[in-house]
Formats: sequence, C-alpha cells, structure tokens
Amino acid sequence: MSTDNQQIIRTAAVIGAGSMGSGIAAHLANAGVQVHLLDIPADDGDRDARAKAGVERQLKQRGFMDPEFASRITPGNIEDHLDRLGEAEWIVEAVFEDLDVKHQTFAKIAAHRAPGTPVSSNTSTIPLAQLTEGMDADLLGDFAIIHFFNPPRVMRLVELVAGPQTTEGTVERLRAIAERQLGKVVVDCRDTPGFIANRVGNFWMSVGAALALDRGVRPELADTVFGKPFGVPRTGIFGLFDYVGLQLVPAIWGSLLKALPESDAYHRFDISSSPELKTLLDKGLTGRTGESGFYRGRGEVYDFAADDYRPIEKPDPAADPAVGEKTAAGVIATDSEAGRYARDVYLHTLAYCCAVADEIAETVEHIDLAIQLGYGWKRGPFALADAIGLDNLVDAYEASADFETVPGLLGETVAAGGFYPDGPAGDTVLDGSGKTAARLERAGVVTVAALTADAERIAGNDKAEVFALTGENEGVAVLTINTPMSSCHPDVLAVFREVAGLDGVRALVIAGDDERVFSAGADLGVLSGLAADGKEEACADLMRDGVRSLEALRRAPFPVVGAVRGVALGGGLELLLHTDASAVHAETRLGFPEREVGLFPAWGGTARTLERAIDSGAQDPHAVAFELIMSAKKIPGAFPARAKGVLRPADRIVLSSDHVIAEALELARELAGQDYSEPGVRDLPLRPADAPALQWTEGSETDARIGQAVAAVYTAREGDPEAIPADELTTRETAKAAAVLVLPANAERAAHMAKTRRPLKN
Ligand code: NAD
Repeated sequence: MSTDNQQIIRTAAVIGAGSMGSGIAAHLANAGVQVHLLDIPADDGDRDARAKAGVERQLKQRGFMDPEFASRITPGNIEDHLDRLGEAEWIVEAVFEDLDVKHQTFAKIAAHRAPGTPVSSNTSTIPLAQLTEGMDADLLGDFAIIHFFNPPRVMRLVELVAGPQTTEGTVERLRAIAERQLGKVVVDCRDTPGFIANRVGNFWMSVGAALALDRGVRPELADTVFGKPFGVPRTGIFGLFDYVGLQLVPAIWGSLLKALPESDAYHRFDISSSPELKTLLDKGLTGRTGESGFYRGRGEVYDFAADDYRPIEKPDPAADPAVGEKTAAGVIATDSEAGRYARDVYLHTLAYCCAVADEIAETVEHIDLAIQLGYGWKRGPFALADAIGLDNLVDAYEASADFETVPGLLGETVAAGGFYPDGPAGDTVLDGSGKTAARLERAGVVTVAALTADAERIAGNDKAEVFALTGENEGVAVLTINTPMSSCHPDVLAVFREVAGLDGVRALVIAGDDERVFSAGADLGVLSGLAADGKEEACADLMRDGVRSLEALRRAPFPVVGAVRGVALGGGLELLLHTDASAVHAETRLGFPEREVGLFPAWGGTARTLERAIDSGAQDPHAVAFELIMSAKKIPGAFPARAKGVLRPADRIVLSSDHVIAEALELARELAGQDYSEPGVRDLPLRPADAPALQWTEGSETDARIGQAVAAVYTAREGDPEAIPADELTTRETAKAAAVLVLPANAERAAHMAKTRRPLKN
C-alpha cells in the first residue's frame, strides 16, 4: 500500500490536451492518478498525436514531478477512445474556450461516463449557467467548474463554481480531490464573469497600466512603487502583462468586457483597446512569449513618445520620495508623482473590490485568498487595507481627485473595525455587504500555532519549544523551532537532547508554521567565527554537539516524525535524515550546500546518507552518498529525493503543503500505536582501499580538498575492518570536517556565506 498522499481517485480523464489540459493531466499523474488524455484525432499519421504532444510539452515544461510519471498518462483521441471515459473517477474538460465545442464535449461525456462520475470544466470565462444549457439532466448534479491556473503543477489556486443543481456530494468530492490529492487551495466562487481572481486581478492590471500610460508614469517607476511595498511580485504590472503574453490581452480582457455591463468600472480602464498595446502588437511584440514587450530583457523599456526602446532609468528616491518608502501606507501618504500614482491604483482596485465583493464572493477573505494565490500578492486587497489603516484610506479617498465618495463597504468596515474585525489571525471577516461572517476553515489544515495554543509546554527555551498535545493527539509532542529560517542554533540542539529524555511522550513531531522552511541547517555565524580564528578543536566541539543532539533524537525511545516543507538544507537535511519517517511536501527542496561553505555535512550526515544509499539498494553506495554531498545541489522535490534514496518508502510524500502537519501527526499517531523499538547503531561498510578512488573534479583546489576529506571518511585505512559502527564513522566525519574548515580558503568561504548569504568561489 502506498504511504503517500491521500489517494481519493486512481483514474481520471482529461479532454483537451492543450496547455491547460496537458498540465492538469501531468499534475494528476503527480498525484498518483492514471490519466486518459484525449484530444481531437490528428488528420494523418498517428491519431493520438495531439495528446502525445501534450505529454511531451509537459515533459519539457516540467509539469511532472518525476519524468517517469508521464507513463501514467494514456494518450488517446475523442473518436476512438471515448469508452475510456467509463473508467474515470473524474472527467476534466479543457477544450477550446468555445461554448459550442464545450456543449458537444459534455454530450460525449454524458453518453460515456460511468453514472455518478463528477465532471468539471476548466473554463476561465464562460458562466456555468451557459455551460449547462441543454446538458443531460443526469449530468447536471455531477457537474461544476473547477478552474485551474497556469501552470497547474505550480499554481495553488483552484476556483470552484457550483450550479444550483450541483449536488453537495459532488462539490465536496471535487473539493477533496483538488485539496487533498492535488494539493490545491479551493476558493468557492459565485457564477459571475471571470470568477474572482481574474475579475479582480485583471482589473488591477488594467488600472495600473492605464493610469501610468495616461499620466506618463514610466513603467519601471510604476512597477517599483506598486511592487514590494504592496507585497506584489517583482514583475509589477507591466512585467506581468509581458509575462501573460500581450497577444492574449485583447481576447482575455475583451471577453470580460463583453460579459460585464457598461456600468462596470472595467469599461473605464479598457487596456485591451489602448493605443499603446496596439502599437506593440502591430510590431509583433508580445512580451516574454516573443522577443520583447513593454520591457526588452532586463535593461530596456518601451518609450511610446520616442517609439522605441530606451534604457531603464533606475527609480531614484531622491527624484521621487515614494520610491524610498517601504510600506504601502508610506507610499500612499507620499505626495509625489509615484506616490499619487500608486495611491490611485490601489484606491481604484479597492473601490472595485468593494463594489463587486457581494456579487462575486461569500466573504472578502475569498477575494483576498484568490488574489494571493492567483496573483502572488502577500496579502489580498482587503487585508492590505486593514494593514494600511482604514482611516488613512478614507483620508486618501477624500484627497484623491479621482473619487467623489468613499466606497460604501469601506464606510461600513470602519464601523466594524476592519475587514478582519478581530485582526489578521482572528476568527471573523466581513462579507460583501459589511456583515460579520466566520473565517474559512479548510478540512485537515492545522497550524502549530493552533495546535499549541492551549497545550502545555514541556521543554524548551526561546529558540525551540516542545508542547504536549491533547485530544486525538494525546501522547504526541510537537517540537517547533523559533529561529530565523528555523536554523539549528546551539540552543535548538539542546532542546533535541532534552526532549529525547522526556517521559510520557509516545511520538514527537518536528513542525513549524513557516511553509518556506523545515530547517536551513546550522547557525553559521558562530562556526565561521571559530574557523576564521583557526580554532579547530572548538569547531569540532560544535560539530560533536550537533551529532550528539541529532543522535539523541534518532535514538529517543519514541518515534520522531518531521513535517517537512519548503527547504531542508545542510543541517536541516541532517535533521530530516535522523527522523524515523516524515511527511514531506512534494515540492520540498533538499540538499547539502556545505561545500559552498567550505565544509561537508558533519552532524552525522555522511553516515546517514550512506545508510540511506545502502538501504535504497545502490550498487555503489559510497559513490552515491559522495555525489550527493559534493554536488551541493538542491534535489528538486520529494519524488526525486526518494528516487535517490534520500527519502525512504516510509516517508509520506504530500502534494498539499497545507496538509503536511496534519499528515505528520497522523504518521506519528500510527507509529506510536505500533511497537516501537529505537533504531540501534548499525555497522557501515568502508570503501575498500583498492576500489576506484572517490574524487571531486568540479571547482577549485578548495573543492577538491573537501572531496578528499569526504573520501577519507568513507575509505578504509590500513588495518581497518570491512565495516565499522556508524558512530565511529561519525567520529571520523567531525574530525575531518573540523580540520578542513579551518584551512584559510575554507574559513574564508564560511565567513563570506555568513556575511553575504552568497557562496565564495575561491
Ligand atoms: P489550448 O488552445 O492550448 O488547448 C485546447 C485543446 O483542446 C487543443 O489541444 C485542442 O486540440 C483541444 N480541443 C479542441 N476541441 C476539442 C474537442 N472537441 N475535443 C477534444 N479536444 C479538443 O487551450 P488552453 O489554454 O489549454 O485552454 C483550455 C481551457 O482552459 C479553456 O477553457 C481556457 O479558457 C481554460 N483556461 C486556460 C488558461 C490558460 O492560461 N491558458 C487558464 C485557465 C483556464
């Protein structure tokens, strides 16, 4: 039985193998699903060629978490293989955005699906009410829109629109598949044009571009000032247009405009028919899909007055003080060209959100979430309003020549005390009419903060804490690290030792709420200082401290489980390698960057890596471990890490980052319920002295020397037995690592990394 991810469905069908259909099929394959991918038959030659091309495209565009997953897709066509729809537990329609083609497709699906199979459309603009016109009556209850974003592997947002006849069972099943099996975040939408993310996101892009072009605000100034301070991705607005592809703008924006009444503010900022866009498109400039767009490379931007590209002028706070502001509130309060521009873009966006909130979403949180996940904003427009300060915003609306009144919903929000009346982490939020509603709750999503809010703290200090959980998690303790990037400061190591000796703990989960990081490893500051002073013995002491601490965890009398997501690097990966089993987010990056710091893993990493290489059946385990350690590369995900033997079959790979903690707790409860015997110290083989030498040839002398040190840890010396206990191997490891780190070139690497966070290639 697979220990991975929730397997709700095992077989699915996707119709339409274009950019979205093939991407959805690839992601289903990532989630362990066998997929029938059907497209129109090709006119000549291989009739399945279109679907096959879709699979090839996904292989090129990294739609698969492991290229082998492509074999889970069976390509076919809609004339010869409709019978395959009968096997599917979910059928996804992703054909052209054309109502007739969609209707024909639903008729085929209705005739061939097994009764009760959920069916969804990936339409981005056609309302469900139109899709279901003339639909087979039996299908109506099983049908909904499930709108993925591009690329489906990466984008976490999925919008769900249910019709009046869609059954609750269908909605919940689709939600569970999308959230638990595919790892997406489902946002419920009302059946309105463009749903939530594109309705609001495209509006914001239109306003941002239109105001800048009208007022002559340079694109690079606009993108800077409405960028970081607002928590908007670095691309900004013009960069995002280039990214989307300018050729798509008339169609995407045009279809929204067509669907929205004249009174909708979209019509006031119609970027799709702007002369500037036309200029670029007439010249065949389509953005990043072509040669250039508003920007050309990183250094140039289109100047419409000169009708040519010019070098980017780096925005300068001396010329416009809004540029130097760090927060949205600061930018908005600055009375300068860029300050007024950013203020008005945000005020128009928020006013639009206030105007449409009730029409498009249950609460303003749905809109915030859709913009965060669909457009990469750190906070959605409403949460941002709370952060800017509602009084400041009321003043800003009154000061701006673009507005006669303050948006109605904002007035009610002032009275309520905020869009999130009891704060960003509170329980309530406003709906679009200003009434208080409950915040979203997603099944199976838990946070360490919520788990430990009322739990007893049983060990710890200010760098790491251990809590005893209660209820269904009785007997399970959670260890959480509170340092930046969850790095393993010596005080964190002390908690690892302390927890191993605690009574009454039946399982331990190591988890944190920062989804970007499990642990980024050792605290380099102290170690690099000692290395710079040539203090080899003190360096070795610190390393032994790490070894002792991780070994204490590993040999604790109860199972230790990691909740791993983001990155697990260096000592953070060593921590993972000392757990009994872990729940690991599929997109976690794992690796040993130590070589770039002048070092190699020295908290038992060479021993644990070798053990795993042996257990995974590697032919030459020393060479496999050596390569992993010396490459200093991040393994791009949990599946490739398992293929390399770094993760074991017992580790559970989870596609939803938000469900990793819950999965880790479940794993811990399962392991605690079994008879647990602590892992002992195994004998590990040494590499025979006459085997081909392990050598590292990339980089400089410094790299070669680090390679020699790792090789020396693994290779038998004269008089050595064939195998030695793992802890003896670790003793060699720390001695060699300390000796190598204090060499001047290596100490320089460590100091450089500690200071600049960049590797020194010396
Ligand atoms: P696309 O043009 O890349 O692909 C459409 C595919 O459907 C083509 O391979 C075509 O041969 C196939 N097709 C057409 N008629 C068919 C039929 N009758 N039976 C089977 N296959 C048929 O389009 P796309 O970008 O993948 O979009 C697909 C759907 O997803 C559309 O509804 C679109 O609005 C929506 N969508 C697109 C994006 C995006 O960014 N591209 C994002 C979200 C949603």
